Amino acid sequence: MTQQTRIHLDHNASSALTPEVRQRWHALIDAEVGNPGSVHQLGQRARARLEAARRRIVAAVAVEPGDVVFCSGATEANNLAVLGAAGPGHLVIPVTEHASIIGAARASGRSIRWIACDERGRVDPGCIEAVLPGAALVCMSAANNELGNLAAIEAIAAVCGASGVGLHVDAAQLLGRAPWRAPRGVASLTLSAHKAGGPVGAGALWVAHDAPTPLPQLHGGHQERGRRAGTENVALAELLAHVVASPHPDWGQLRPVRDALEEALVERLGAVVLGDVESRLDNTSCLSFVGREAEEVVQALDLAGVAISAGSACTAGSVERSHVVAALGLGDDVARGAVRVSLGWCDAALDVEAVAERFERALRGRGGLSGG
Ligand code: PMP
Repeated sequence: MTQQTRIHLDHNASSALTPEVRQRWHALIDAEVGNPGSVHQLGQRARARLEAARRRIVAAVAVEPGDVVFCSGATEANNLAVLGAAGPGHLVIPVTEHASIIGAARASGRSIRWIACDERGRVDPGCIEAVLPGAALVCMSAANNELGNLAAIEAIAAVCGASGVGLHVDAAQLLGRAPWRAPRGVASLTLSAHKAGGPVGAGALWVAHDAPTPLPQLHGGHQERGRRAGTENVALAELLAHVVASPHPDWGQLRPVRDALEEALVERLGAVVLGDVESRLDNTSCLSFVGREAEEVVQALDLAGVAISAGSACTAGSVERSHVVAALGLGDDVARGAVRVSLGWCDAALDVEAVAERFERALRGRGGLSGG
């Protein structure tokens, strides 16, 4: 029996560390230790490193001046933005948002105006505009984690700006993969390192200078100027800064690879491509194997040595169907068979034929991990 190499095609759940991040992280293990809140020289040097990372992020992620609150990842940044939203009013949230936005919105106790999408998962900025009067905050992910759809952030920021309502953008799936910067009118922005080749546990909320400061959700410390209690992890802040300021160039090489794989799966297995094929992340393919169960497809591929996902990892493990795919309003058989294939920076030279072959063997019930 020959052991096949495992193929990781679930980079939207968590990507592989880039060689640059790995190298920097190793070096940081031996770096000087100091608490950036301490007054002695060790503390001051840690503070200087933290502030340098903060400045690097501010310069990289948005066109407007702003500030950064370091935290543990996108889930925490989204919770800070949504639960910490200042002033009265309802929340405006597309039904396709990530569970960390939806969960925080439900926990906030505010009323929520849900924004529907079309059958490709696209959100019409006009629908957002219609429910802006009296809103406290609008949330919109820059790139949807399941479909890969890129949102019309500029247009949405313009309608929010015209009504004086803050726009929170979750850019966890976009920043660090492309040199994207939040346009004028974005009030806050969620960042996470591990979707783009950085470490898990490194995240931040960027807040525009002219936007209200989110109310802290962790208490008992003055760190991050009172906005997030707890000692900052300087090394993770530096790695996050590296990831968002210098996306690995191979993220930009993935579109033809993704397209070729998609084409092969459509041809060989009759897969149906979901999402906005005109405007989506280069690495993401949301496909339905119509008539099959997504869980069964994921398991069959896992046995064939290929890691893919049946929706976001945050909801995987439960038997719940993807709320994102359900929102497209497609037939039940299409929704039930929907899986996500997401490439990483390391897949620029992926052997598409070999991967398609594994899909075919797994889904036609032939072969598995034992080669053949
Ligand atoms: N937002 C989006 C769009 C995501 O894709 C994810 C990860 N699935 C998160 C938030 C949560 O990220 P983290 O793991 O950094 O908490």
